[in-house]
Amino acid sequence: FGLVTGQLGSDESQTTEASLTARDRVGIQDFVLLDAYTSESAFLDNLRKRFHENLIYTYIGTLLVSVNPYKELDIYSKKQMDIYMGVNFFELPPHIFALADNVFRTMLFEFNNHFILISGESGAGKTEASKKILQFYAVSCRSTRLLNNVRDRLLLSNPVLEAFGNAKTLKNDNSSRFGKYMDIQFDYQGGAVGGHILSYLLEKSRVVHQNHGERNFHIFYQLVEGGEEDLLRWLGLERNCQHYSYLVQGGCAKVSSINDKNDWKTVQKALSVIELSKSDIEYLFGIIASVLHLGNIKFEADVRGYATLSNNQEMHWLLGIPAQVINHVFSPFSVDHAVYARDALAKAIYDRTFNWLVNKINESLANKDSSRKTVIGLLDIYGFEVFSVNSFEQFCINHCNEKLQQLFIELTLKSEQEEYEMEGIEWEPVPYFNNKIICDLVEEKHRGIISLLDEECLRPGEATDLTFLEKMEEKIGGHPHFVTHKLADQKTRKTLQRGDFRLLHYAGEVTYCVVGFLDKNNDLLYRSGKEVMQQSKNPIIKHCFPSTEPDSKKRPETVVTQFKSSLVGLTEILMSKEPWYVRCIKPNEAKQPGRFDDVLVRHQVKYLGLMEHLRVRRAGFAYRRKYEIFLQRYKPLCPDTWPNWKGTAAEGVQRLIKHLGYKRDEYKLGRTKIFIRHPRTLFATEDAFQDC
Ligand code: ADP
Ligand code: MG
Repeated sequence: FGLVTGQLGSDESQTTEASLTARDRVGIQDFVLLDAYTSESAFLDNLRKRFHENLIYTYIGTLLVSVNPYKELDIYSKKQMDIYMGVNFFELPPHIFALADNVFRTMLFEFNNHFILISGESGAGKTEASKKILQFYAVSCRSTRLLNNVRDRLLLSNPVLEAFGNAKTLKNDNSSRFGKYMDIQFDYQGGAVGGHILSYLLEKSRVVHQNHGERNFHIFYQLVEGGEEDLLRWLGLERNCQHYSYLVQGGCAKVSSINDKNDWKTVQKALSVIELSKSDIEYLFGIIASVLHLGNIKFEADVRGYATLSNNQEMHWLLGIPAQVINHVFSPFSVDHAVYARDALAKAIYDRTFNWLVNKINESLANKDSSRKTVIGLLDIYGFEVFSVNSFEQFCINHCNEKLQQLFIELTLKSEQEEYEMEGIEWEPVPYFNNKIICDLVEEKHRGIISLLDEECLRPGEATDLTFLEKMEEKIGGHPHFVTHKLADQKTRKTLQRGDFRLLHYAGEVTYCVVGFLDKNNDLLYRSGKEVMQQSKNPIIKHCFPSTEPDSKKRPETVVTQFKSSLVGLTEILMSKEPWYVRCIKPNEAKQPGRFDDVLVRHQVKYLGLMEHLRVRRAGFAYRRKYEIFLQRYKPLCPDTWPNWKGTAAEGVQRLIKHLGYKRDEYKLGRTKIFIRHPRTLFATEDAFQDC
């Protein structure tokens, strides 16, 4: 039974001297129990205390706060999983496994759908958390030989997608450069029977350009470093990353925390488990190699000034396209124009291949049985990020985080307070910052930034990144969350360049440089590029560039508009499920263990809305259950309600809690639910239930 509880271990509830000192040392494992619960400093003290004791998890009711330890902790073993399996949430120290287990059992008991929203800024530990949850389900769910197949595929889809979709950035050596929503499907007995992955906007510009200190996607380096001799020879590659212009722009092809050679082996194993055939794999790496070759093409101007390219046999052969046909992609262009067309092609090839791979994985995870299933969704998306220069990619990523924060607010602060109202429960409202104003600034029809950007993209030849900036200044210049060099007061102006605009996001201010916005949003791939790719003998390429693609006379949707609608789709998926939250916090910018930067953490606690969440939890009722469910569970505890209660569920619950001796101020009865103020009350009831 998934008790919606979130509580302290029994040792901490005792008030003996011994446990008081323990409490001083390790802090409190549920912020709801913090005496000074309105004080941010007390919140921070508790988090810091626990962090230094390697206790990285703390609850706010059922929400899990996690602080990245930046070191391996011995808390994820099979033994630990066994400890958490099937045990009530409140009986053990907080853990990601406890949350996973609670979600799982709630799903089985109520037979409904759930999702776990994992949020936090880049490098805070989201991807690691989602992997731990998946591993827990892989071990804990019912197992048969058939189910084990599904389980292995679910697990191994991860290293594959990370290899193709993650990269080293300045924030995180293994940063997710795509958004990922994964459904795990369970049968009514709790066996994992299938899965499905949705991916969101891969940062494909990385294929052709990396900022200083960053890398391209892992898979390129894995192939060059780890690929077998025969394979490399076949692909015409040298075992030297320095040789490939697409791999060296960040100046850090080698990273001490990453072992590309070993990762290559892992990925190879994983690819075979997710049922890619030998020839699929060959064609796939043919494409990866051809992107590297493509990057090395050089152009020279002929007498008329048109670009001609150096010959590259391997690339023609790998793409399965003859040289004279490929040349067609780049002519009759100037050299600059040809370089642009080359990069556009490389990005398109990689992006479409990535999507092909996600589809392949989905085919292998697909559940063929049509009986009713319930799902647990895991959302692990790129976190909020601020670099010294921020571009279109950061704009999309940060807007996505803005939307997820909005969803969190809708589902917790807002809906929580609305629920009290709806249930007719007296309630002192808690004020909170609603970031809807920033979401609107970006996405409002006709006057939001996205609309203005799309409008400019409709004026080829006339519009430039700068006219886009001017348009924003004209249309949204007065908005309190938007500022540019021209609009700023004198002090702020010093911190802005002429081509910048700054947004005051919920998580802090970010200055975006407009250069490249139009181009990246248009994402032009010349028609000649598409046509040429359609002639490829490589079946993956052929599949990725179908000849039935919408006519290029009709304008394709811009990147940001596609992204916007995919976020709407995601929100709909999530809204139909019961939410759970993991809020990840980054303790320092240096990726170092043992360092807890107060200023940095305080900032995250603030913008993640943790204090407000705690206040709502504290002031309100920690636990609530529909009368029917509560009665069904606990009716054996009262002779009046056992075995069958004839009246309404609400009356049954009243009879039940009277019998159990609930005190008047400990609970409230709403229209459809019982609300219990303090976890203790429910624990006692649950204990009695376990004993009976
Ligand atoms: P995010 O997905 O939020 O950007 P990651 O989950 O990739 O961040 O975490 C970044 C790095 O931090 C990981 O590569 C790992 O080194 C470290 N890390 C994160 N969570 C944990 C954890 N629970 N235990 C140990 N190290 C962790
Ligand atoms: Mg990540």
